[in-house]
Amino acid sequence: MKILIVEDDRALNNGIALSLCNAETEIIQAYDIREARGLLNQAVSLILLDVGLPDGSGLDFCREIRRRMDEESRVAIIFLTANDMEFDIVAGLDAGADDYITKPFSLAVLRARIDAVLRRRREPDGTVEGGIFEQDSFLFDFDRMCFYVDGETVSLSRTEQRLLKLLVCNQGVTLTRDRLLEWVWPDGAEYVEENALSVTMRRLRQKLPGAPIRTVYGIGYVWERKE
Ligand code: CA
Repeated sequence: MKILIVEDDRALNNGIALSLCNAETEIIQAYDIREARGLLNQAVSLILLDVGLPDGSGLDFCREIRRRMDEESRVAIIFLTANDMEFDIVAGLDAGADDYITKPFSLAVLRARIDAVLRRRREPDGTVEGGIFEQDSFLFDFDRMCFYVDGETVSLSRTEQRLLKLLVCNQGVTLTRDRLLEWVWPDGAEYVEENALSVTMRRLRQKLPGAPIRTVYGIGYVWERKE
Protein backbone atom coordinates (compact mmCIF):
# COMPACT_ATOMS: atom_id res chain seq x y z
CA MET A 1 0.00 0.00 0.00
CA LYS A 2 1.19 3.49 -0.83
CA ILE A 3 0.28 6.62 1.16
CA LEU A 4 0.95 10.14 -0.13
CA ILE A 5 1.42 12.87 2.49
CA VAL A 6 0.89 16.44 1.23
CA GLU A 7 1.91 18.79 4.05
CA ASP A 8 4.18 21.84 3.94
CA ASP A 9 5.14 21.57 7.62
CA ARG A 10 8.22 19.41 7.06
CA ALA A 11 8.56 18.27 10.67
CA LEU A 12 4.93 17.13 10.72
CA ASN A 13 5.21 15.55 7.28
CA ASN A 14 8.31 13.59 8.33
CA GLY A 15 6.79 12.64 11.69
CA ILE A 16 3.70 11.18 10.02
CA ALA A 17 5.85 9.41 7.43
CA LEU A 18 7.99 7.79 10.13
CA SER A 19 5.00 6.69 12.14
CA LEU A 20 3.09 5.16 9.21
CA CYS A 21 5.97 3.50 7.41
CA ASN A 22 6.09 -0.27 7.84
CA ALA A 23 6.63 -3.46 5.83
CA GLU A 24 3.28 -3.16 4.03
CA THR A 25 3.16 0.62 3.65
CA GLU A 26 5.29 2.80 1.43
CA ILE A 27 5.18 6.53 2.12
CA ILE A 28 5.70 9.24 -0.49
CA GLN A 29 5.89 12.88 0.55
CA ALA A 30 5.07 16.19 -1.08
CA TYR A 31 5.34 19.68 0.39
CA ASP A 32 3.11 21.55 -2.03
CA ILE A 33 0.42 20.91 -4.62
CA ARG A 34 2.74 21.09 -7.62
CA GLU A 35 4.90 18.33 -6.17
CA ALA A 36 1.86 16.23 -5.21
CA ARG A 37 0.40 16.55 -8.69
CA GLY A 38 3.60 15.05 -10.09
CA LEU A 39 3.21 11.99 -7.84
CA LEU A 40 -0.40 11.20 -8.73
CA ASN A 41 0.54 8.89 -11.60
CA GLN A 42 1.57 6.34 -8.97
CA ALA A 43 -1.00 3.93 -7.54
CA VAL A 44 -1.74 5.63 -4.21
CA SER A 45 -4.31 4.15 -1.78
CA LEU A 46 -4.59 7.14 0.50
CA ILE A 47 -3.72 10.83 0.50
CA LEU A 48 -3.26 12.80 3.72
CA LEU A 49 -3.92 16.31 2.48
CA ASP A 50 -3.16 19.55 4.30
CA VAL A 51 -5.75 22.26 3.59
CA GLY A 52 -3.45 25.32 3.70
CA LEU A 53 -0.62 24.70 1.25
CA PRO A 54 1.87 27.30 -0.05
CA ASP A 55 0.68 27.09 -3.66
CA GLY A 56 -3.05 26.67 -3.12
CA SER A 57 -5.90 25.12 -1.18
CA GLY A 58 -6.10 21.42 -0.37
CA LEU A 59 -9.86 21.66 -0.96
CA ASP A 60 -9.34 22.72 -4.59
CA PHE A 61 -6.68 20.06 -5.05
CA CYS A 62 -9.06 17.43 -3.67
CA ARG A 63 -11.69 18.43 -6.25
CA GLU A 64 -9.04 18.31 -8.95
CA ILE A 65 -8.05 14.76 -7.93
CA ARG A 66 -11.67 13.63 -7.99
CA ARG A 67 -12.14 15.09 -11.48
CA ARG A 68 -8.94 13.51 -12.78
CA MET A 69 -9.39 10.02 -11.46
CA ASP A 70 -12.06 7.56 -12.53
CA GLU A 71 -14.31 5.94 -9.96
CA GLU A 72 -12.41 2.61 -10.01
CA SER A 73 -9.15 4.12 -8.88
CA ARG A 74 -10.79 6.33 -6.30
CA VAL A 75 -8.09 7.12 -3.77
CA ALA A 76 -9.07 7.74 -0.13
CA ILE A 77 -8.45 11.31 1.05
CA ILE A 78 -8.18 12.57 4.63
CA PHE A 79 -7.77 16.31 5.23
CA LEU A 80 -5.28 17.55 7.79
CA THR A 81 -6.81 20.77 9.07
CA ALA A 82 -5.43 23.44 11.37
CA ASN A 83 -7.30 24.22 14.54
CA ASP A 84 -7.42 27.95 13.89
CA MET A 85 -8.72 27.49 10.39
CA GLU A 86 -12.38 27.71 9.70
CA PHE A 87 -12.85 24.40 7.99
CA ASP A 88 -16.29 23.48 6.79
CA ILE A 89 -16.40 19.69 6.96
CA VAL A 90 -19.41 19.52 4.67
CA ALA A 91 -17.47 21.50 2.04
CA GLY A 92 -14.67 19.02 2.64
CA LEU A 93 -16.91 16.02 2.12
CA ASP A 94 -18.47 17.67 -0.92
CA ALA A 95 -15.00 18.17 -2.36
CA GLY A 96 -14.66 14.40 -2.17
CA ALA A 97 -12.78 13.80 1.09
CA ASP A 98 -13.44 10.71 3.19
CA ASP A 99 -12.61 12.24 6.54
CA TYR A 100 -10.60 14.95 8.23
CA ILE A 101 -8.45 15.25 11.31
CA THR A 102 -7.70 18.44 13.23
CA LYS A 103 -4.13 19.37 14.15
CA PRO A 104 -2.58 18.73 16.55
CA PHE A 105 -3.51 15.07 16.55
CA SER A 106 -1.92 12.01 18.05
CA LEU A 107 -0.41 9.55 15.61
CA ALA A 108 -2.48 6.79 17.23
CA VAL A 109 -5.68 8.67 16.36
CA LEU A 110 -4.43 9.30 12.82
CA ARG A 111 -3.70 5.58 12.36
CA ALA A 112 -7.18 4.70 13.67
CA ARG A 113 -8.80 7.16 11.21
CA ILE A 114 -6.76 5.78 8.33
CA ASP A 115 -7.78 2.21 9.20
CA ALA A 116 -11.45 3.24 9.40
CA VAL A 117 -11.34 5.04 6.04
CA LEU A 118 -9.58 2.17 4.28
CA ARG A 119 -12.00 -0.33 5.83
CA ARG A 120 -14.97 1.70 4.59
CA ARG A 121 -13.44 1.77 1.11
CA ARG A 122 -13.12 -2.00 1.10
CA GLU A 123 -16.79 -2.29 2.08
CA PRO A 124 -18.55 -0.24 -0.58
CA ASP A 125 -21.93 -0.57 1.19
CA GLY A 126 -20.80 2.02 3.70
CA THR A 127 -20.14 4.76 1.19
CA VAL A 128 -22.47 7.26 -0.40
CA GLU A 129 -21.86 6.57 -4.08
CA GLY A 130 -22.53 9.51 -6.35
CA GLY A 131 -24.17 11.35 -3.48
CA ILE A 132 -27.02 8.83 -3.26
CA PHE A 133 -27.70 6.74 -0.17
CA GLU A 134 -30.36 4.07 -0.23
CA GLN A 135 -31.33 1.73 2.58
CA ASP A 136 -34.70 0.11 3.37
CA SER A 137 -37.33 2.86 3.17
CA PHE A 138 -34.74 5.65 2.99
CA LEU A 139 -33.42 7.41 -0.09
CA PHE A 140 -31.13 10.38 0.41
CA ASP A 141 -29.79 12.39 -2.52
CA PHE A 142 -27.08 14.59 -1.03
CA ASP A 143 -26.22 16.26 -4.33
CA ARG A 144 -29.73 17.58 -4.84
CA MET A 145 -30.47 17.70 -1.10
CA CYS A 146 -33.66 15.66 -1.56
CA PHE A 147 -34.68 13.18 1.10
CA TYR A 148 -37.36 10.50 0.91
CA VAL A 149 -38.94 8.06 3.35
CA ASP A 150 -41.12 5.43 1.67
CA GLY A 151 -41.12 7.62 -1.46
CA GLU A 152 -42.43 10.65 0.43
CA THR A 153 -40.34 13.82 0.44
CA VAL A 154 -39.03 14.84 3.85
CA SER A 155 -37.79 18.37 4.38
CA LEU A 156 -34.64 18.70 6.47
CA SER A 157 -32.99 21.83 7.81
CA ARG A 158 -29.41 22.57 6.77
CA THR A 159 -28.24 21.41 10.21
CA GLU A 160 -30.18 18.16 9.96
CA GLN A 161 -28.76 17.58 6.47
CA ARG A 162 -25.22 18.02 7.76
CA LEU A 163 -25.80 15.67 10.66
CA LEU A 164 -27.41 13.04 8.43
CA LYS A 165 -24.64 13.16 5.86
CA LEU A 166 -21.97 12.63 8.50
CA LEU A 167 -23.85 9.74 10.04
CA VAL A 168 -24.44 7.83 6.80
CA CYS A 169 -20.92 8.55 5.52
CA ASN A 170 -19.64 6.90 8.69
CA GLN A 171 -21.95 3.91 8.93
CA GLY A 172 -21.03 1.57 11.74
CA VAL A 173 -18.66 4.14 13.27
CA THR A 174 -19.60 5.77 16.58
CA LEU A 175 -19.25 9.54 16.23
CA THR A 176 -18.56 11.31 19.50
CA ARG A 177 -20.72 14.25 20.58
CA ASP A 178 -17.68 16.56 20.40
CA ARG A 179 -16.84 15.47 16.87
CA LEU A 180 -20.45 15.86 15.71
CA LEU A 181 -20.71 19.32 17.26
CA GLU A 182 -17.52 20.37 15.51
CA TRP A 183 -18.71 18.94 12.18
CA VAL A 184 -22.24 20.21 12.23
CA TRP A 185 -21.55 23.69 13.63
CA PRO A 186 -18.05 24.34 12.24
CA ASP A 187 -18.14 28.08 12.73
CA GLY A 188 -18.64 28.16 16.43
CA ALA A 189 -19.35 24.93 18.24
CA GLU A 190 -18.56 26.75 21.48
CA TYR A 191 -21.55 29.03 20.98
CA VAL A 192 -23.91 26.16 20.42
CA GLU A 193 -26.04 25.22 23.37
CA GLU A 194 -25.04 22.02 25.03
CA ASN A 195 -28.30 20.27 24.13
CA ALA A 196 -28.49 21.54 20.53
CA LEU A 197 -27.11 18.27 19.24
CA SER A 198 -29.63 16.19 21.21
CA VAL A 199 -32.48 18.40 20.00
CA THR A 200 -31.38 18.18 16.34
CA MET A 201 -30.93 14.42 16.64
CA ARG A 202 -34.42 14.06 18.12
CA ARG A 203 -35.94 16.06 15.23
CA LEU A 204 -34.00 14.02 12.69
CA ARG A 205 -35.25 10.75 14.19
CA GLN A 206 -38.85 12.05 14.15
CA LYS A 207 -38.52 12.92 10.47
CA LEU A 208 -36.87 9.59 9.63
CA PRO A 209 -38.89 7.01 11.54
CA GLY A 210 -37.10 3.70 11.91
CA ALA A 211 -33.70 5.16 10.96
CA PRO A 212 -30.97 2.96 12.49
CA ILE A 213 -29.46 5.80 14.52
CA ARG A 214 -28.35 4.38 17.85
CA THR A 215 -27.37 6.45 20.88
CA VAL A 216 -24.12 5.23 22.41
CA TYR A 217 -24.61 6.42 25.96
CA GLY A 218 -21.98 8.80 27.23
CA ILE A 219 -20.22 8.81 23.85
CA GLY A 220 -22.31 9.78 20.86
CA TYR A 221 -24.27 8.33 17.97
CA VAL A 222 -23.89 5.73 15.25
CA TRP A 223 -25.81 4.94 12.07
CA GLU A 224 -25.92 1.14 12.34
CA ARG A 225 -24.47 -0.68 9.40
CA LYS A 226 -26.95 -3.02 7.77
CA GLU A 227 -26.15 -6.72 8.35
CA1 CA B 1 -0.08 24.06 5.90
